[in-house]
Amino acid sequence: MEQLTVTLPGGERVPRFGLGTWRMGERARDRAAEIAALRLGIDLGARLIDTAEMYGEGGAEEVIREAVGTRRDELFIVSKVYPHNASRQGVVAACERSLGRLGTDRIDLYLLHWRGAHPLAETVAAFERLRAAGKVRHWGVSNLDTDDMQELARVAGGAACATNQVLYNLARRGPEWDLLPWQRARGITTMAYSPLDQARMLGSRALATVARRHGASPAQVALAWLLRLPDVITIPKATNVAHVRDNFAALDLRLDDTDLAALEKAYPAPDRKRPLEML
Ligand code: NDP
Repeated sequence: MEQLTVTLPGGERVPRFGLGTWRMGERARDRAAEIAALRLGIDLGARLIDTAEMYGEGGAEEVIREAVGTRRDELFIVSKVYPHNASRQGVVAACERSLGRLGTDRIDLYLLHWRGAHPLAETVAAFERLRAAGKVRHWGVSNLDTDDMQELARVAGGAACATNQVLYNLARRGPEWDLLPWQRARGITTMAYSPLDQARMLGSRALATVARRHGASPAQVALAWLLRLPDVITIPKATNVAHVRDNFAALDLRLDDTDLAALEKAYPAPDRKRPLEML
């Protein structure tokens, strides 16, 4: 598999295509299918997995541990801390719990899941402490709009933020107005979550038309649209193995000007600021 990467400010190259895990680890009866889907994704070449302590209340991290087995060192693992755990002490304790469930000694990228009541300065101080201890290799945030990102940049140590993970897909282009350019100018990588809009957009006529031209699926078109952006990481989630395979084929799909114009017509770029949406 062709490995598309983005370079973090420190020079490390990180895969731009990864596996999401929201809704995994919630039901015992789905566990075998979830493990099989993640294993297939890794076998097909995925090297980034996105999770959070919230997903299945730790269950998704346990599913990842089992799916990954002895292949931990091949992977870039992203996890997230709940806002209510994002105090100076709370982040460190939550990280230890995530490390235990993941069965690893480090999280490659640790994110504040969304902004809560704890001051950003405290969360950043905790992230930096974890980074100094080698338990976290990079840190970032999620669901922060431009004004929050500006505030974060002013906090001591805040400039080390590697990533902001936000809702961004063809049907939710609001971040293009100001957030994406702001991040791009500072070398902050964007992680696009819900790249398929949780499958809601897949019945769209525009996606079907473009997909037909390439003998591809609507999901592949939605993913290829994100994958053409060199500083965006995309993390589709699939438990169905046919979906896993389908999503990987997006890596071979190149959208041309005709495709992009058709998609632009159906899903126009924002013409004004829209508050960041969150799922
Ligand atoms: P996605 O946009 O990735 O859509 C997932 C849904 O689409 C599932 O129902 C899946 O079904 C289905 N699907 C996947 N591939 C295909 C395909 N090829 N054809 C048809 N259907 C398909 O939604 P998510 O919200 O899960 O977003 C992806 C990841 O982003 C999450 O799993 C999570 O890791 C992260 N995220 C982060 C958030 C944050 O606040 N930071 C919020 C939301 C998500 P099935 O599983 O049955 O295969």
